[in-house]
Amino acid sequence: MSGSWCMWCMSHPNDWKLHPLPQTEHWTMQKIKERKEQVDNGLLKEPSAIRGVVNDPIWDFIEPSHMVFPQLHIEIGLVNNVLDSFYLFIDDQVEAPTDEEKCSRNSYIIADVALTKAIKQLDEWKEVDGHNLQGYRDEAAQLRNSLKRSGAMNELERNAARNELVQLDQEIDRLVRERKTLEVNVKTRRTALQVAKKNHQSTRAKKKKVDLPIFSHVENILKEHNISSAAYHGGKLNGVDCRELIRLAKHIFSRFENYLLSITHADRCSDDKIINSCRLHGDICSMLDFLASKLRLKSGEPGEKDYEAVHKCLAKLHELWALASLNFTPKMHCLLNHGVEHMQRFGGIGDTLEDDVEHMHQMAARIESRVSRMKNKGQQPFVHSKIEVVQNCASVKEKIEESKVAAKRTMKNRNAELCAVTRAKKAKVERDEERAQTLASLENHNHSQVLRLHDEKKTELLLQHDLHE
Ligand SMILES: [Zn+2]
Repeated sequence: MSGSWCMWCMSHPNDWKLHPLPQTEHWTMQKIKERKEQVDNGLLKEPSAIRGVVNDPIWDFIEPSHMVFPQLHIEIGLVNNVLDSFYLFIDDQVEAPTDEEKCSRNSYIIADVALTKAIKQLDEWKEVDGHNLQGYRDEAAQLRNSLKRSGAMNELERNAARNELVQLDQEIDRLVRERKTLEVNVKTRRTALQVAKKNHQSTRAKKKKVDLPIFSHVENILKEHNISSAAYHGGKLNGVDCRELIRLAKHIFSRFENYLLSITHADRCSDDKIINSCRLHGDICSMLDFLASKLRLKSGEPGEKDYEAVHKCLAKLHELWALASLNFTPKMHCLLNHGVEHMQRFGGIGDTLEDDVEHMHQMAARIESRVSRMKNKGQQPFVHSKIEVVQNCASVKEKIEESKVAAKRTMKNRNAELCAVTRAKKAKVERDEERAQTLASLENHNHSQVLRLHDEKKTELLLQHDLHE
């Protein structure tokens, strides 16, 4: 399946912003194969008809309905989306732009406004003149037909018809030229917009750390909580950091809020906008944390109340996601529409998630880093296997465990409070209570739309334009 479509249902990405989603058919191996055959035979060409089917299934003995929701990867993707969106807000509205950036940003907005206006003009033309053109063409065709038929009219009528035809042809000519000009206008403006966008992007990419003091400070706040966007993860947060960010979202985002409010310069946005953006992004993180805690419940653990809370939380998350102008990506669609369904069908999916596979990947990566610098490439796989065997050897594992136990200090008179298992259980209960409270408090928060600076300025300019018209 293509990554831009859903692997469980046939819904169209345009519908993903709707909640609840309209009823859609679900994929089965049979349906995927049939569609692939239709694509191969050239019967389906449009992406909306192909619906993301790329290849024949490799393992056709596992139905899509039995592929469990990948909670960890969805969480990593979505948390990074939220953080990126928050960084974009800082860059847009709080960080002082360089002169060069201001200039390229303005050119980009102006080019965008020009294109929107050009498209509007063309649309308006189509509404009125487009219909007229069709009418004139029909009329001219009728006149030509009558002129061809002998005996249909006398000479006087013929002359009148010819004159009328000349006039119609002139009018048709004029309208066709007009449409051509408008179409060329749209095309030129579209190219200009692409150039301006590219320019602006490269100006932004050129910005150095010195130009981004606020961003650096925000990153430092995260680092104080041991959260950092690791370079090997493509500058994104890894799973552990994502979990920490959403767990501490309330606290971390209120620190962001206090810090951003302390910034003073002429280009910074209003206090209200900062407060709104910090709360919105923070609350989205808290909701992702709440959902993760429910989706991680093991088979047999979730009860009616959990499902009820999840449904409520999903509806709210959908609302806030739209307010933050975040995209409804395939991962978001899966969380909104498939996660809880899987949870319900299997009575909890916490014990079938992908964390163990990830752990194995990490172990393999550790061995890989030990053997990657070996000069003798032929020896590499042997050494790799050797380390793997040693790591998996039962007696080695036993000895490691023994030495760990021996190294531990034995505590006398341990009370139940200090027992690690009891402590972990207690902490979990406290965390869950805190999560439920956070979710309940969200009901009282009033969030408003966070718009990209670009869209905000564009709307302003277009409004001004309409007023002057
Ligand atoms: Zn789907």
